[in-house]
Amino acid sequence: MKLSVIIPCYNEEVTIPIFYEEMQKIQSEIEYTFEYIFINDGSSDNTIEELRKLSSKHENVRYISFSRNFGKESALYAGLQASTGELVTVMDVDLQDPPELIPEMIDLIENKGFDCVTTRRENRDGEPAIRSFFAKKFYQLINKISDTKMTNGARDYRLMTRQVVDSILRLSESNRFSKGLFSWVGYKTTFLSFKNRERVAGQTSWSFWKLLKYAINGISDFSEAPLHIATWSGGFFSTLAGLGIVWIIIRKIISPEIAISGWSSIICLILFIGGIQLLCLGILGEYIGKIFVETKKRPIYIVKETEKDNPNK
Ligand code: UDP
Ligand code: MG
Repeated sequence: MKLSVIIPCYNEEVTIPIFYEEMQKIQSEIEYTFEYIFINDGSSDNTIEELRKLSSKHENVRYISFSRNFGKESALYAGLQASTGELVTVMDVDLQDPPELIPEMIDLIENKGFDCVTTRRENRDGEPAIRSFFAKKFYQLINKISDTKMTNGARDYRLMTRQVVDSILRLSESNRFSKGLFSWVGYKTTFLSFKNRERVAGQTSWSFWKLLKYAINGISDFSEAPLHIATWSGGFFSTLAGLGIVWIIIRKIISPEIAISGWSSIICLILFIGGIQLLCLGILGEYIGKIFVETKKRPIYIVKETEKDNPNK
């Protein structure tokens, strides 16, 4: 039986050797043969050199190198497509996903009848407070407005059976919010918790703005709720305007001598309602943009080189 390990790497020349070393330690405890699939996601450092070296030395190390940076989500898709193991795990190269959990994960799948074991961090120590705060709010919001449930602190790190992987591969959309896709396919899933750790070396490639964009993407990928804002605010303001008209007519009949004043309040109302209209147009635009991207059906990634092109292998 074979276990495929999928590892997306973006500018990770320093972490790859440390990661492989650590994995060797647990590999000896496990009966499965290992297949490593590293994905070089258009790194600008020497990641590709490290991968060529590693795959020349070890028969079971494969790699896929992209023609540019396509993002972690595309890297995961490429890895899942290339994997051949009966069990497949997805992990970060920076050792923030503890490899020592793998034996327990295998046990849960083999003996407890689970199809998928995922992991979550039980705390967020070492992370900026503002980032934790927004992450918490994001998960509260998305769980309220989407049918796909997502857990705060859930990592992409997980072990899956071949059946689950094949199901995920059937979702071939270009907008890939993995946390949602993994949850959407269903199957009997359990969580393992672990204490947050800092990366062993190198630095994170996620800025606050990149994460915010990622979160907004996740919402429009997995919920139509924002679209209802237009319907609801339209209904609310129409009702309000109707009541206002009735009120003005009645007042004119009762006391026709009153001159209607209120120039500044009218300007405020026009600006306010104009703002709401632009907001609703913007939300529509978000979704139309997604349709635009999906209809082009561009490939999710482009491969420049794999271990088969490695002259030293
Ligand atoms: N990664 C990637 N492509 C990207 C950004 C990140 O393949 O565009 C990889 C990265 O090399 C790492 C994993 O995704 O293995 C998680 O990234 P990182 O550690 O920077 O994120 P964090 O753990 O801080 O959320
Ligand atoms: Mg990390």
